Amino acid sequence: MVSRLEVRGLRASVDGKEILRGVDLVINGGEVHALMGPNGSGKSTLSHVLMGRPGYEVTAGSATIDGVELLGLPTWQRAQAGLFLGMQYPIEIEGVRTADVLAAAAEAAGSDPAEVVERLYAEAGALGITANHLARGLNLDMSGGEKKRNETVQLAALRPKFAILDELDSGLDVDGLRIVSRRVEQATNEDGLGVLAITHYSRLLRELEPDVVHVFADGVIQQTGGAELAAELEQTGYDRWIKPIESAVSIGGLGGLGIGKGSGGLATDDPFADPFADPFA
Ligand code: ADP
Ligand code: MG
Repeated sequence: MVSRLEVRGLRASVDGKEILRGVDLVINGGEVHALMGPNGSGKSTLSHVLMGRPGYEVTAGSATIDGVELLGLPTWQRAQAGLFLGMQYPIEIEGVRTADVLAAAAEAAGSDPAEVVERLYAEAGALGITANHLARGLNLDMSGGEKKRNETVQLAALRPKFAILDELDSGLDVDGLRIVSRRVEQATNEDGLGVLAITHYSRLLRELEPDVVHVFADGVIQQTGGAELAAELEQTGYDRWIKPIESAVSIGGLGGLGIGKGSGGLATDDPFADPFADPFA
């Protein structure tokens, strides 16, 4: 049976400010969907709300995997239902190794921890993660690229039904991007993994070819198309979806320095000072 992730009319707020304003999205197992949009449009918020990160108020809608409602479940039960999140900024945990995290996740999901840890070690080498990396606390003293590789190793070992990969391309060089993309693609083919790849660059999508591309701006999906939409966005940018006041800042203010919302930079990408609780706790 092909799995199905279904998001309907999802609305969520932070500090009383509505960030997600009615998200509708259906991903089938084996499909790669790209979610592209300007900084601050709510892409990471969508990933956090789906994974159950605390601090967001869901005000409407639903999100299901094969009919199981995720909203309201603690994060570990969402993982158990088959959801995996590769965070834009992977958290670091002192004293807890990647293997410990995966063993706990496997246990929570009712699968064999030893088997998952075995897969972790089997997968690591090909993704450029060494025994030395794995002996450290989770993601500790790793470069941005190494963290993304490490996230991909976890994904490969855990074999979830759906993976949200938030800016997998950030921090990875060309070779790294190719290697992790190949592994993710392999999972879509062999394990029927469904992917939501969040990015604002089409560079990722030259390696991880999307079946569907969504333009996300102002808290909603504005347009959906095929791979050609990503190429078009590279030419046109997101200006047509950005509210006039933000475009004005981009053009008249800092735009000349390339620091407008339209050109990506001004908006804070991660408003969180503290990493949130262990997603597998
Ligand atoms: P993107 O990933 O598309 O760049 P985000 O989802 O990170 O955007 O952020 C969307 C908006 O929500 C931003 O204006 C951001 O400042 C705001 N936001 C997200 N999380 C919080 C939070 N915990 N507290 C305050 N504002 C937040
Ligand atoms: Mg983001």
